[in-house]
Amino acid sequence: MKMTEPKHFADLALRGKLSRNVPMSKHTSWRAGGVAERMYQPADLDDLLVFLRGLPVDEPLYAVGLGSNLLVRDRGLRGTVLLLHGALNGLRLEVDGCVYAEAGVPGAKLARFAALHNLRGAEFFAGIPGTVGGMLAMNAGCYGSETWEKVLRVQTVNKRGETFMRMPADYETGYRHVALRPAPQSSDRTTSHSARQPNNYGQAAGFLPRGRGGEREERFSTPVAEEWFIAAWLKFEAGDGGISRQKIKELLGKRIESQPLNLPNAGSVFRNPPGDYAARLIESCGLKGKQIGGAQVSEKHANFIVNIGGATAADIESLINKVRAVVLQQAGIDLHPEVKIIGEAA
Ligand SMILES: Cc1cc2nc3c(=O)[nH]c(=O)nc-3n(C[C@H](O)[C@H](O)[C@H](O)COP(=O)(O)OP(=O)(O)OC[C@H]3O[C@@H](n4cnc5c(N)ncnc54)[C@H](O)[C@@H]3O)c2cc1C
Repeated sequence: MKMTEPKHFADLALRGKLSRNVPMSKHTSWRAGGVAERMYQPADLDDLLVFLRGLPVDEPLYAVGLGSNLLVRDRGLRGTVLLLHGALNGLRLEVDGCVYAEAGVPGAKLARFAALHNLRGAEFFAGIPGTVGGMLAMNAGCYGSETWEKVLRVQTVNKRGETFMRMPADYETGYRHVALRPAPQSSDRTTSHSARQPNNYGQAAGFLPRGRGGEREERFSTPVAEEWFIAAWLKFEAGDGGISRQKIKELLGKRIESQPLNLPNAGSVFRNPPGDYAARLIESCGLKGKQIGGAQVSEKHANFIVNIGGATAADIESLINKVRAVVLQQAGIDLHPEVKIIGEAA
């Protein structure tokens, strides 16, 4: 991979951690994939803004939380990965009773924090092994609850280091789908540290509006128009911490029973099609246990692909494509991946 270090990185007064040639297998739950040319883990929000303001406009940029929904192809990523887990960790109760959580806060920590403050409705976050940023980007959910149902407002940042306060109405949200609407209805630019004109019409990270064919196109590194989540204000109802803790325990127990948590995986690989379950379709096509290299369709949960040892990203992606093709051929249903696949193919 070509390494061209932008000179200015050395000139910026950065307090975070800049690393080079970072194996993304260390930062994804599949424990597979290529190397990121650069990775920056900011010290805090101010440090992130300094970093972004110094970034060349053509630098490809990727936000990563806990990498629990992510496959990085074997030839890796050119550009910079912003590692927000372990970085933006702010979590507090606001005076109006809502919870302020920064993008790097893990779901389990958020669920425990809400229970500690006798708030109910956050229990489901405990079982999602991602960060607040990743859960906002994915509209992660389970057991009848979804992330965006709880959102009062979010703060985002674009590549120029300009921050925005955005309301749920600014986004189109659905089942594992989040996209910033083309014209914001109720947003405010909260901070601009740039003399340049802010772009208020950006897309939520990774998404473009639906293409002409009605399909949603996706992209991950287009400059200027993208925004990333840096914090959310979440609303929960008054409850009983003891009951919430018990509920968390039960939900985690259900996962241990039904999911192959002993092997590296990225949760559900495919979205459920309307009125059906991807796992049921995959199992009915006889694909449980199907293996390519070190990647295997889990025997325990057919919508999980597990790394049984030494899987490459190509093994995993080939198996995803194989499952999709077989289900289409045998059941006539085109399954759409929920996991995000980025980087250069081998
Ligand atoms: C065992 C297991 C169980 C799971 N169960 C569930 C479940 O029940 N429900 C569910 O919905 N998901 C589930 N998942 C999938 C995953 O945990 C969620 O999608 C989670 O929201 C991903 O968060 P993350 O921080 O790991 O994101 P990452 O995997 O790091 O990133 C995922 C996507 O979000 C983007 N992103 C990350 N941070 C930001 C940010 N700050 N701003 C903008 N974009 C960002 C990335 O660029 C990428 O496109 C499961 C995964 C595993 C491994």
